[in-house]
Amino acid sequence: MRVLVTGGAGFIGSHLCERLLGEGHDVLCLDNYFTGSKRNLAPLLGSPRFELIRHDVTEPILLEVDQIYNLACPASPVHYQYNPVKTIKTNVLGAIHMLGLAKRVRARILQASTSEVYGDPLEHPQTEKYWGHVNPIGIRSCYDEGKRVAETLMMDYHRQNKVDVRIVRIFNTYGPRMALEDGRVVSNFIAQALRGEDLTVFGDGSQTRSFCYVDDLVEGIVRLMNKDGFTGPVNIGNPTESTILEFAQRIIALTGSRSRIVHRPLPSDDPRQRQPDISLARRELGWEPKVHLAEGLEQTIAYFKQLLARR
Ligand code: NAD
Ligand code: UDP
Repeated sequence: MRVLVTGGAGFIGSHLCERLLGEGHDVLCLDNYFTGSKRNLAPLLGSPRFELIRHDVTEPILLEVDQIYNLACPASPVHYQYNPVKTIKTNVLGAIHMLGLAKRVRARILQASTSEVYGDPLEHPQTEKYWGHVNPIGIRSCYDEGKRVAETLMMDYHRQNKVDVRIVRIFNTYGPRMALEDGRVVSNFIAQALRGEDLTVFGDGSQTRSFCYVDDLVEGIVRLMNKDGFTGPVNIGNPTESTILEFAQRIIALTGSRSRIVHRPLPSDDPRQRQPDISLARRELGWEPKVHLAEGLEQTIAYFKQLLARR
C-alpha cells in the first residue's frame, strides 16, 4: 500500500514510518519540521520506497494514497503553547484537509488524538466513554480542544461522507528520538540527570502520568488502522501509573546521577491524574503493552547519552 504519515519527521511519526517501510509499504512522510527533524528519518532516506514532502497541513494537498496517519501537531506543551493559534489551525485545518483528501481518494484515515481530550479527568482510570473535563479557554485549550474538534470532524466525515476513519487516544509516550529540547517530562528529566543538572518537578510532584514505550504504541496504532469495522476512539497507553516525583527519583536511580530534585510552579490546568483503561484495546485489537518502564527507559537513556555525547 501507499501510506501517508503527516508529522512523520517527529518522535512517534519517525518510528511509524520505519515500521511501515519494514512491512513493505511505500511511505510518504509529510512534515513542516516545526518540532520534527530529518535526522529522525536518516535510516530511511536511502530507501526507494520512502518519500519526504515538506508541507504544512494547514494548507491543502492532493496525493494518491491508500492510508493516512494524521499525526502532524506539536505534542509538547512548551511547543504547542508557543503559537497557540497555529496549534489550533494545525489540528482543525489539518484534519479538514486530510479528511478531504481521504474522501477524494477513498483512503482510510487514522487521527492521532490524545488523553488530553479527557482534560483534568474526574474519572479514573479513563475509559473511552468518559467525555472529559476540559477548560475551553485555558493555555492547554488550543491543543485539547483542537484535538476534540479533530475527533468531531472524523466522526462527521464518517457519518456524512462515509469516510473510513480511525481515532486513537494516545497516552504519554516516550522513547528514542524524543527531541532533547522537547520540554516533555521524560526528555527533560533524562537530559537533566545526564547533565548533572537539577531535575525540575513542577508543583509537589503528586500529579500522575502513565508512560508507554513507543514500540508498543506503534503496534497499537497499526493494529487499529488495519482492523475492519472499528472506528474507535480507543485508548492506547500503558496503565502503569506513577507520580511525577516518583518518576524523577526513578530517573536519578537509573542514570546513577548526582542530580537533585527541585520544585518549580505547576503550570495552570496541568492534569492531576492520568491512567488509560485499555480494556477496549485488549478486546478489539488484542493489544496490550509489552515493554516495562525500566526496559523502555534503559533504551531511552542510552539514546540520550549518545545524543549528548555527539554534541
Ligand atoms: P512531535 O512534536 O515529535 O511530532 C509532531 C510532528 O508534526 C513534528 O515532526 C512536527 O514538525 C510536525 N508538525 C507540526 N505541525 C505541523 C504542520 N502544521 N504541518 C506539518 N507538520 C507539522 O510529537 P509526537 O510525540 O511525535 O506526537 C505525534 C502525534 O501524536 C501528535 O499529533 C500528538 O498530538 C499525538 N500524541 C502524542 C503523545 C505523546 O506522548 N508523544 C500523546 C498524545 C498524543
Ligand atoms: N513536568 C515536570 N517537570 C518538567 C516537565 C514536566 O514536573 O520538566 C510535569 C508536568 O507538569 C506534568 C507531567 O510532568 O504534570 C507531564 O508533563 P509533559 O509535559 O511530559 O506531558 P503532559 O502534561 O502533556 O502529560
